[in-house]
Amino acid sequence: MSTLGSIYRAIRSLLLAEECIVCGNNISHNMHGICTMCRFNVPMTYFWRDKENPVYEKLSALVPIAEASAFIYYTDKSPWRSMIHSFKYRNAWRTALDMGRWYGAELKASGRYDDIDVIIPVPLHPLKRIRRGYNQSSYIADGISQSLGKRVLRRATRRRRNNPSQTHHRAHDRWGNVEALFSVTRPEELAGKHILIVDDVLTTGATMISLIQSILEAVPDCRISVATLAVTTYITAIR
Ligand SMILES: [Zn+2]
Repeated sequence: MSTLGSIYRAIRSLLLAEECIVCGNNISHNMHGICTMCRFNVPMTYFWRDKENPVYEKLSALVPIAEASAFIYYTDKSPWRSMIHSFKYRNAWRTALDMGRWYGAELKASGRYDDIDVIIPVPLHPLKRIRRGYNQSSYIADGISQSLGKRVLRRATRRRRNNPSQTHHRAHDRWGNVEALFSVTRPEELAGKHILIVDDVLTTGATMISLIQSILEAVPDCRISVATLAVTTYITAIR
């Protein structure tokens, strides 16, 4: 169903005018899903320009990292939320790729990500990836890769299971609850490298921290940086 569905959507998008996935206005195909006005008004964080930004502070308090940033703010009321959703549910992988390229150009211009060796998208559980047909973070990583000129490693890590529901756990139980979500399948490919981990949204940070811990346990001599496309104001508000 998902393959037929994506073929149908691909043909439909070729034939019909597209709508901006942020504001809904009609746009031409070559806009990659986002209109000029929305591109102009994108709620950028500019975190990549400063090492000591809220995402870095939050993550580096829990795991050793070199750099960390997010591209845009993501709030419940923001229309940009629908863009992130469209990556997962509306087959908008082209927009994910395009946003990744844009973000990657900013990372490159900052000069703070020059010594990255490889890029790893946060893996989906294999069953989830098959159901969805693709991993949205992988397309964001591809876009960043094109701008930074670094390669993407898709099979170096593996997701063992999906996130357990965290809604019934108190905040201080969260970290233990998501331990060992990931395994490192090809540690030799990561030895001595500076790895950039890419994801779509940073919410509690629990999934990201779990992946970083797994990589550092398997490959103690690597360095890790983080680039997510969006960050909830939840994480930036907590100290
Ligand atoms: Zn728009």
